[in-house]
Amino acid sequence: MAHIYLSSPHMSEEGYEQAFIKEAFDTNWIAPLGKNVNEFEKELAAYVGAKDAAALSAGTAAIHLALKAAGVGEGDVVFCQDLTFSATANPIVYEKAVPVFIDSDRETWNMSPEALEQAFEKYPQVKAVMPVHLYGLPADMERIMDICRRRGVPVIEDAAESLGSYYHGQHTGTFGDYGVFSFNGNKIITTSGGGMLVCNLEKEKAQERMKKARFWATQAREPARHYEHREIGYNYRMSNIVAGIGRGQLKVLEQRVGQKRSIFAYYQEHLGDLKGISFMPVHEGERANCWLSVIQLAPDCPVRPLDVMIALEKGDIESRPVWKPMHLQPVFAGCGYIDHGNTGAELFRQGVCLPSDTKLTEEELSGICGIIRGLWK
Ligand SMILES: *Cc1c(COP(=O)(O)O)cnc(C)c1O
Repeated sequence: MAHIYLSSPHMSEEGYEQAFIKEAFDTNWIAPLGKNVNEFEKELAAYVGAKDAAALSAGTAAIHLALKAAGVGEGDVVFCQDLTFSATANPIVYEKAVPVFIDSDRETWNMSPEALEQAFEKYPQVKAVMPVHLYGLPADMERIMDICRRRGVPVIEDAAESLGSYYHGQHTGTFGDYGVFSFNGNKIITTSGGGMLVCNLEKEKAQERMKKARFWATQAREPARHYEHREIGYNYRMSNIVAGIGRGQLKVLEQRVGQKRSIFAYYQEHLGDLKGISFMPVHEGERANCWLSVIQLAPDCPVRPLDVMIALEKGDIESRPVWKPMHLQPVFAGCGYIDHGNTGAELFRQGVCLPSDTKLTEEELSGICGIIRGLWK
């Protein structure tokens, strides 16, 4: 068998991406502006149902500009989900703000509303709240939004892993004031690298905020003939070539969500009877995009996550641990942490992300399940 990736780029069979790139070449719009950039923003905003969007060089850049748009600055406290990829938290530090990490709950694997309530008691001066939709599983946005709205604190949703997931019929990334998507190489759709910031405030405000985000993203150049600067800017805009890949990928996103969800269903069906194994929580009334299929091994299960990862590695198959919580990262030592039974740390210790590449064949999936089942014999 050829090397099996955890999740790798999957371009459309129809060649949509190359057609958009060709158009950019033919019109010589090889720049961080052009038709593909404008259209990709409109198409993504329409797909998720956001008021406006700004196409950027990375999801991390989108998180950074969301924090700036939310008015976060030096010394401000930001509540950030503890169980996540470091890219959620790093931009808080870019702005010299102070992250306080919030533990997850078992029901969603994402920010615990109870821990969030406690955090508000301890840090009432908080300036923004950042829940994440890990692996495409929606966070409990109803309760999180209720808690934050009551206190008038802006919410930035890190939906980098959850494009195509809905919660109560509404796309993740559109509940909070701002939402962030990523098109990095292993995400459900990719542009090789890129991100999108969306805004869900009322239309005029959203357009004004996204205009400001585009301004910051293009070196904060004031509208003057000469180069005039009143604020610090960034080089964060998405290129017109990259946006062309994104427009093509958006056409196959629904298909990719279907494929990711069938991979997860396949694992549930073919591994579900193994003693001590459980699956990431996908609830009724939601559609999780199942970006990665993740299992948990009970503490008393004789097979350990590392055994699974090593056995797969021997077959040239990639898997990975669950994200290591931020409060356990040396770089964030000393930051505040509000725990909820240390759930994030437990999910990290007991979890394995299984191969979830949309190009996997049924034969390959069956081979992967065979290797894993072998560990229980
Ligand atoms: C991928 C990812 C990001 C960062 O996106 P980039 O486009 O790689 O900068 C942020 N948060 C989470 C949870 C991610 O998985």
